[in-house]
Amino acid sequence: MAGRCDCGTPIRYPFYRLACLECGANCCPVCAIALESVSYCRRCAETLLGTGDLGNGGPYHF
Ligand SMILES: [Zn+2]
Ligand SMILES: [Zn+2]
Repeated sequence: MAGRCDCGTPIRYPFYRLACLECGANCCPVCAIALESVSYCRRCAETLLGTGDLGNGGPYHF
């Protein structure tokens, strides 16, 4: 059964399934935010970066 990201995007393929290093949430490629070669979900990235203003664009690479 395919997972679904918080944003509503179906995660159809296992290799697209990115897990947040911080909370373990599944993220689609759009929502996953790469920091230092590891992936975080949008929520954790905002917390780590100290900003709630990342918007809804993505993907993000810092
Ligand atoms: Zn997270
Ligand atoms: Zn998503």
